[in-house]
Amino acid sequence: MSTIEERPVAVAWGAATDVGRRRTLNEDSFLADPPLFLVADGMGGHQAGEVASATVIDEFSRLRGRPSLTIEEVQHALRAARERVDTLPQGGGAGAGTTLAGVAVADVDGEGYWLTINMGDSRTYRLSEGVLEQVSVDHSVVQELIDAGQLDAAEAARDARRNVITRAIGAGSDSEPDYWLLPAEEGDRILVCSDGLPTEIDDERIDQILRTESPPQSAADRLVSEAVAAGGRDNV
Ligand code: MG
Repeated sequence: MSTIEERPVAVAWGAATDVGRRRTLNEDSFLADPPLFLVADGMGGHQAGEVASATVIDEFSRLRGRPSLTIEEVQHALRAARERVDTLPQGGGAGAGTTLAGVAVADVDGEGYWLTINMGDSRTYRLSEGVLEQVSVDHSVVQELIDAGQLDAAEAARDARRNVITRAIGAGSDSEPDYWLLPAEEGDRILVCSDGLPTEIDDERIDQILRTESPPQSAADRLVSEAVAAGGRDNV
């Protein structure tokens, strides 16, 4: 665990990842370094996904150490990341691509905000004032079916199409991300994860772990180890 005191938000963080029990490569990449907390879940065969997610994280890592970011700075980094991913060798199929989810610390008139970004089905949750909510909305076929009233959450969890995403960086997608600007409250816990976490453990368990594992590194380690123990069908 590391901590840093800086305006406009003081943050403490931890991070963990695991290849899981079924995959041979870990195509998930992350950046946990203020002002950015991001997860990218790569896709595409022949190591393409691993390279795509690492490339996006590398581009955003140039912004490490800044006290806060503006949405324009995030958008600029995203454009640069997309250009780099589009020049990667095709891994077969639709080519290299990656999700991107997470938060940047933002400053609006001296107040701290979580600038939340999402493309794909990695997720950002916030535990704030006792309530856990999923901030990001998955860009996935099953989420569209849920929104249309054609699937409920339990059916969606078993649906064969649950890994099919509708927006990405690369992989032939030119779609834009969603953004949310949320005021940061004292005591907020932000969780950023790839789909390998909620695939294995439900929101109720995630909530319990976030409430009971106080140090951020302990929470990250516990979340990942429980997802792997529960099946680890994907990278976490
Ligand atoms: Mg995944």
